[in-house]
Amino acid sequence: MIFETHAHYDDEAFDEDRETLLASMQQNMIGCLVNVGASLESTQTSIQLAEQYPYIYAAAGVHPSESAALDEAQFEWLAAQCAHQKVVAVGEIGLDYYWDEPDPAVQKKWFVRQLELAKALKKPVIIHSRDAAKDTYDILAAHHASEAGGVIHCFSYSAELALAYVAMGFYIGVGGVVTFKNGRKMKEVVEAVPIERILLETDSPYLSPEPNRGKRNTSLNLPLIAQKIAELKGLSYDEVVQITTENARRLYQIQC
Ligand SMILES: [Zn+2]
Repeated sequence: MIFETHAHYDDEAFDEDRETLLASMQQNMIGCLVNVGASLESTQTSIQLAEQYPYIYAAAGVHPSESAALDEAQFEWLAAQCAHQKVVAVGEIGLDYYWDEPDPAVQKKWFVRQLELAKALKKPVIIHSRDAAKDTYDILAAHHASEAGGVIHCFSYSAELALAYVAMGFYIGVGGVVTFKNGRKMKEVVEAVPIERILLETDSPYLSPEPNRGKRNTSLNLPLIAQKIAELKGLSYDEVVQITTENARRLYQIQC
């Protein structure tokens, strides 16, 4: 069974067929999935999905692009959600400098607060980092993120940086980009990182792999990503599925 480590089924892109789609996961070999919060609202809806389906787990966190809306009272609420028995990680949290807002100082403040929360709760972090390689790495190193552990989701930097994160105890999230014709950098990352440190993810509804690029993504596309990783690593498809599933169980500390 494949372990989907990162999806957003609370997204409105799934309003039409969410229940049918989620009900079809297990018969399509998707054994388990983590629905990741990106705001206070989606943290709540992720937990609702986790309560509704035994094989869905949730991550609770506020994405850097949403962080300007946070205040102390909301942070308290978020911390309380993290104690829910089906919340397996704090995320997605991090830095996103692709957009001009929020100000980097605001993003950094709430990134650090959520990172420290994860460490206090002994839960791993799911990191979103876009056009912010140096600041993300520096913050994770300075705040001893290795104590929490986690995954750099939708990794988009160099193979060298991926190995630095592996050395810090992190996993590397690999999704549809590895199948793209212009995905050379991501292929190098997959070649360099040990398979024991790779997690399968889709980031559904975004980043659909080839040949479905541009369409709505779902976890049913995960075999396309596993197959590409198998080719790049010289492993069988079954080996990739089995090892990445074990990796996800180890990180999130769940058996499913
Ligand atoms: Zn995401």
